[in-house]
Amino acid sequence: MFKNKKNYATESPKLYDNVNKEIDKEIGFKDLNLLKPIMQAVADAGYENPTPVQAKAIPAVLSGSDMLAGAQTGTGKTAAFTLPILHLLAEKPAAASRSGRPRCLILAPTRELAAQVEESVKTYGKYLPLKSTAVFGGMSIVPQIKALRRNVDILVATPGRLLDHVGQKTVDLSGVEIFVLDEADRMLDMGFIVDIKKIIALLPKQRQNLLFSATFSEKIKTLSASVLHKPVFVEGAKRNAASELVDQSVHLVSQRLKSHLLSHLIKHHKWKQVLIFTRTKNGANRLADKLAADGISASAIHGNKSQPARMKALAQFKDGSVTALVATDVASRGIDIDRLPHVVNFELPNAAEDYVHRIGRTGRAGSSGKAISLVDKEELRYLKEIERFIKREIPKVLFDSFVPPANMPAEPHNSLPQRQGGRKIYGERTPASAGSRNYQPRHGYAKKQNNSKGNNAKSKVR
Ligand code: AMP
Repeated sequence: MFKNKKNYATESPKLYDNVNKEIDKEIGFKDLNLLKPIMQAVADAGYENPTPVQAKAIPAVLSGSDMLAGAQTGTGKTAAFTLPILHLLAEKPAAASRSGRPRCLILAPTRELAAQVEESVKTYGKYLPLKSTAVFGGMSIVPQIKALRRNVDILVATPGRLLDHVGQKTVDLSGVEIFVLDEADRMLDMGFIVDIKKIIALLPKQRQNLLFSATFSEKIKTLSASVLHKPVFVEGAKRNAASELVDQSVHLVSQRLKSHLLSHLIKHHKWKQVLIFTRTKNGANRLADKLAADGISASAIHGNKSQPARMKALAQFKDGSVTALVATDVASRGIDIDRLPHVVNFELPNAAEDYVHRIGRTGRAGSSGKAISLVDKEELRYLKEIERFIKREIPKVLFDSFVPPANMPAEPHNSLPQRQGGRKIYGERTPASAGSRNYQPRHGYAKKQNNSKGNNAKSKVR
């Protein structure tokens, strides 16, 4: 739970100073006229002021309008739709039996996001008599059928599993009054368009629609035009604004040294919680094993893991019993961990937008975080694209006390670090790093090894 008693709107100016300028900074939750039980839950969560997207979206949803919201995770978007939905449902009398017949349907692209959104519904609705449940794949369908048989006001679902329930007639969507498409851009990226259309065809014509998307491609515009009726447009943060709050840096390091450097960083800085991104599922498994072998508690989370295994890993990471969570992009999407301090890109993503989504896991909702990218020579072109996309150069720093293991196999010819005087060095001046203020060429790996005897216990990585 977010226990930050800070004034959100004024203490995270970097994140929001470019957006929603017209929003009165003094807007407080009390100005939004939400029901008392909801206000109490918000106060319990430690929120003092609404985020910009909340200040705009909550009145729009309360007015009954359809809404198109440009907001990514980290902007407070979940509460932006959950709070007014709870208010609207609590105000209107419900049919005596809502068994299998939800009044609100929230579609989310991934299992993790669906679980998290439902957790938020429960958190913000804890003083209301409304019932919610989540259905998503990777879990047995039986308990979900049982949960649906009970009264359900708010159903959070992933598209595929929802259609399974429709097929088994365990859910009836004809009573849906409010329909939410969360992370609609991701839904389309993941190929859910056909499922979404099938689901929409099952909803009553008369309903309120809310669509959230971090990006506005032509596809999203077409989808919005077909789903939304005279929508109010609400903008959260600028697409790459999340990156402004995060302390970003790049370590230039050859692929083969990355896992050693990562273990070293975690141990040396005594990191307690770090989310690490890899490109592949196998890479995630291998890295988690390697970290574990280095004495760091780690788990991997990706599409090949069963849903219970993913949820367990996430829960352990959240409660601090696992230090390092290694994830692929899809698995990580929407993971919401309050004030996550460190994110590491073990490999850079090839889409610059994914970089922003990844580092958006840290520095969320007003707290700052660190994002470190381990970048091999082969990835410099991605780095350039990312820097162009976020419109800033990322400082290239070298970690001086890192000593690569002495027994490393020979260096492949074409990868960093390059050789200097017959010796391997960890950092080399490269086109990407040249000119960066923070870049300090390292003095030499052999010298470091000789010098490092005193503090080797800490900095040497096996
Ligand atoms: P979201 O964009 O929905 O993923 O939310 C990101 C984070 O912001 C979550 O950890 C929320 O608990 C937190 N949050 C949401 N609304 C507020 C608020 N008004 N003040 C402070 N934190 C908030």
